[in-house]
Amino acid sequence: MINFEYNRASDVADAVRKIAADPAAKFIAGGTNLIDLMKEEVERPTRLIDITRLPLKEVTETADGGLSIGALVPNTDLAYHPLVERRYPVLASAIMAGASQQLRNMASTGGNLLQRTRCAYFYDTATPCNKRAPGSGCSAIDGLNRGHAILGASASCVATHPSDMCVALALLEAKVKVQGPQGERTIAFADFHRLPGDTPQRDTNLEHGEIVTAVELPPRGFAAHYTYLKVRDRLSYAFALVSVAVGLELAGATIAEARVALGGVAHKPWRNASAEALLNGQPPSAENFHCAADHLLRDAKGLEHNAFKIELARRAVVRALAQAARGTPQSQSDKRIR
Ligand SMILES: Cc1cc2nc3c(=O)[nH]c(=O)nc-3n(C[C@H](O)[C@H](O)[C@H](O)COP(=O)(O)OP(=O)(O)OC[C@H]3O[C@@H](n4cnc5c(N)ncnc54)[C@H](O)[C@@H]3O)c2cc1C
Ligand code: SF4
Repeated sequence: MINFEYNRASDVADAVRKIAADPAAKFIAGGTNLIDLMKEEVERPTRLIDITRLPLKEVTETADGGLSIGALVPNTDLAYHPLVERRYPVLASAIMAGASQQLRNMASTGGNLLQRTRCAYFYDTATPCNKRAPGSGCSAIDGLNRGHAILGASASCVATHPSDMCVALALLEAKVKVQGPQGERTIAFADFHRLPGDTPQRDTNLEHGEIVTAVELPPRGFAAHYTYLKVRDRLSYAFALVSVAVGLELAGATIAEARVALGGVAHKPWRNASAEALLNGQPPSAENFHCAADHLLRDAKGLEHNAFKIELARRAVVRALAQAARGTPQSQSDKRIR
């Protein structure tokens, strides 16, 4: 383990001051990702700024009828929050599909957004990896790439974003509230995570010196017609090969609005407005679901070991749309185990 200094931030302004003063410092929240990365010497911060005592642990209703989720709300508390269960069940379902109960108890809302890829080469400091060591190469492109991206990848990096929660937040069109040396700003969720391009070392558009203070949900939660379907190698404690969040607004026998977000397929949660638009004003039929899924996956490209994910994603989208339309979301049986 590397040596590092440890400081505790007394308030949000103090946290911003401390991180802005040290380019090699990192915030620590639940520590469930950062500590693993430090043990592997993938991350080597010289200073950790503990933010766990900051007053960012509340879930509150906003004036427009949405919700504001403090960056330090633990994943478990968020999934079981009555307003989230009732109004944003797709978010509760996505959170419960991730990690394990112990991890969800520790993991924070802000940390979940900023968790890093699970690409095995990123963790293995003996191998080239552009995300860990820019310019060194990508071991996954011609290596073991079964879990890697089929959409939005680049010649520099084919990693995926591992979060389940973020797929639901992309679907709900959340906003990320951020505070930095220049004050506060709000980032639309679609603009928070980045595609790899030729700078895969940057996962997000958060600047060094900024702290995530909250995630805001708009009023619309798709509580009547939603699902979160996660396909993985094991039924629990495994990252998604493919996951699909769906929210439908039905008006009589037609779809008034459809949203579909994919996880496990790209460097960020993946949405495609033109595929969603194909469903609007249409009846919720198998034919229309297949058509939207084909459109959503039409630019997908497979590598040697992950081409199966294209058909897997296509089928998962059709199934998730059918579950949401019927009002029979994917089982949340895991929620019974506290
Ligand atoms: C074995 C295992 C299995 C897992 N399985 C899943 C899974 O299936 N699905 C899933 O979605 N996740 C999974 N996870 C990931 C887990 O959800 C994340 O590790 C967790 O959400 C990170 O939150 P944290 O508070 O512990 O972050 P930390 O580890 O404390 O921090 C992570 C990063 O976020 C930064 N950070 C934290 N808070 C802030 C803030 N407020 N502002 C700015 N920067 C901040 C830190 O500096 C650090 O870079 C798994 C983790 C493990 C270890
Ligand atoms: S896919 Fe990205 S994270 Fe994985 S080895 Fe290539 S550059 Fe590194």
